[in-house]
Amino acid sequence: MIKIYVDMDKCQHYGQCVFEAPEVFQLNADDKLEYQAEAPDDMLADLESAADVCPMQAIFLTKE
Ligand code: SF4
Repeated sequence: MIKIYVDMDKCQHYGQCVFEAPEVFQLNADDKLEYQAEAPDDMLADLESAADVCPMQAIFLTKE
């Protein structure tokens, strides 16, 4: 399992992460980021891409 944490104080809701891993990151009806706190290991590449493209470097991943 991969644990996902987004620092919502940094996140500006740009949504770049949504394009990289839409299974985990979504923008809600108010254009605010929502995300799953856990994802299976086979999503690691997509999640690392999301963390890389985040302009605020707000995405943190932990492998369990
Ligand atoms: S890419 Fe970063 S700043 Fe943009 S919505 Fe995702 S976590 Fe927030």
